[in-house]
Amino acid sequence: MTGDECIFCKIVKGEIPSTIIFQDDICMAFMDIFPISEGHCLLIPKEHFTNLLDADEAVLQHLITKLSLLDRKVSAAYNDVGILNAVANGEYAGQEVPHLHFHVIPRRPNDDFGFRYPEGYRDSMAPREELERVAGLIRNATEA
Ligand code: AMP
Ligand code: ZN
Repeated sequence: MTGDECIFCKIVKGEIPSTIIFQDDICMAFMDIFPISEGHCLLIPKEHFTNLLDADEAVLQHLITKLSLLDRKVSAAYNDVGILNAVANGEYAGQEVPHLHFHVIPRRPNDDFGFRYPEGYRDSMAPREELERVAGLIRNATEA
């Protein structure tokens, strides 16, 4: 998808409405239109990147600083919340909008939201050899 069709690029250009928390030349923080919990907002780069896999390094450095700022602001706005940051990279990871975005989701006790884990996944730890095998796979992988 190019920036022309992208819904978040349209938000950046002001072509569709958004509720902005802060912005600068590089990024924008705005409210998620379907909040999972009160305070759920998003941080995006103004430039179109699909996700973390193709994002520019200097932009990422800026974003992580601003993500921390947004986390601190949301945390200060509410009493006693945890802040979940999530980024989905790709469709199988649950990414619906193909423009890099960091979710900032306030979590509260018994909020009935969370990752679903496979049944029994903590019944036994992974064998060390298996962890070594998988780590080797990742360690030795070369980027396309
Ligand atoms: P993801 O599933 O990680 O791609 O998340 C996309 C997020 O964008 C969802 O939480 C949507 O609710 C949110 N979203 C989609 N369209 C808009 C919009 N026009 N304004 C604000 N948030 C949006
Ligand atoms: Zn875009």
